[in-house]
Amino acid sequence: MMTYDNANIFAKILRGEIPCHKIYEDEHTLAFMDVMPMADGHCLVIPKAPSRGLLDADPTVLAKLMPIAQKVAKAAVTATGADGFQLRQYNEGAAGQTVFHLHFHILPMKDGVPLRPHTGKMADHAVLAEMAKRISAAL
Ligand code: AMP
Repeated sequence: MMTYDNANIFAKILRGEIPCHKIYEDEHTLAFMDVMPMADGHCLVIPKAPSRGLLDADPTVLAKLMPIAQKVAKAAVTATGADGFQLRQYNEGAAGQTVFHLHFHILPMKDGVPLRPHTGKMADHAVLAEMAKRISAAL
């Protein structure tokens, strides 16, 4: 198994070296907007503890992460008026992973509206900031 690389972009966000549109933060977890959203309200929930993916994560980390993923998903669905959502998590490049720090994608979905491509177009930062505020307010 490949090892964790501290230079990945989510590690930089966790260290405060690059900004994010934050939705939620506690001692163990951070949730923020995906900058190339596949759906309106597409956000990411990550543990602060380092792991590349699901398989090298400590189970105690997962136990703290999942309730927050649930809470943020509920808020994202409320804030976007979605009819449902997908929870996605990619492991390694073969599976489409591009950032090698464990993260769950929350993808609010509306009836009949397809997702946009994975890592497609960068969204407008003002739109992301507004959405982060709305999801955060719905927590
Ligand atoms: P994955 O392919 O599962 O590793 O997904 C990585 C996700 O991170 C993609 O959906 C990207 O759009 C997103 N992403 C990349 N850089 C950033 C960033 N600086 N802030 C927020 N999301 C990002």
